[in-house]
Amino acid sequence: MAGGKLILVPTPIGNLEDITLRAIRVLGEVDAVIAEDTRVSGRLLQHLGISKPFIPFHAHNEHHVLENIIARLAQGSTLALVSDAGTPAISDPGFLLVRACVKADIKVETLPGPTAFVPALVNSGLPCDRFTFEGFLPVKKGRQTRLSELKTETRTMIFYESPHRIVRTLSDLSTAFGPDRQASVSRELTKVFEENAQGTLSALAAHFNAKEPKGEFVICVGGAG
Ligand code: SAM
Repeated sequence: MAGGKLILVPTPIGNLEDITLRAIRVLGEVDAVIAEDTRVSGRLLQHLGISKPFIPFHAHNEHHVLENIIARLAQGSTLALVSDAGTPAISDPGFLLVRACVKADIKVETLPGPTAFVPALVNSGLPCDRFTFEGFLPVKKGRQTRLSELKTETRTMIFYESPHRIVRTLSDLSTAFGPDRQASVSRELTKVFEENAQGTLSALAAHFNAKEPKGEFVICVGGAG
């Protein structure tokens, strides 16, 4: 094993109480924090009373800064990686960096902590013994192919979605899997206006079409058969 260590630190998905004691200690101990958005993470660190240098790391510079980060780690730095919310690398930057660390024989540790899909799944009332995490569906190219591939999926499926596309996605899922397929939508998890709605895909599409959807969404859909 070479040099330092990369530690992936999950951060709250809404409620600031959802940060572990270990996450706070690690953020206080590392040499620097690699952050998706330094303003967002700056506010969190300020709330925790921690001051650290930041290394910006987001979808647009990920490839570019990778080498520098690997070099710092190889020289012995201990760096934390955080995203704007939840667990880094889960529908967020992180995978490329972890893969590069594994390749360079640099130690990687991931702290357990907040992520949106686990509470959404467990809360859905759908089977959670076997499931598939699908993240965001492709917006245009590949969307129909992905939906038809999933038509026969027997495990519970989990999707992330934004407020602008939630109604369209629920109605596309309803068309692809049938209007009577059971599903659950979790909105604004851990926040003041948290909502968990269960029902058929068509009923959920109608529910969120009735008034302008706000916030962040996780959709869980029961498997086929
Ligand atoms: N890394 C994050 C995680 O571990 O869950 C996910 C980041 S991804 C860019 C953002 C998406 O996660 C949102 O569009 C939404 O689908 C989901 N999400 C994040 N926070 C949420 C919350 N509080 N309630 C519901 N969904 C949430």
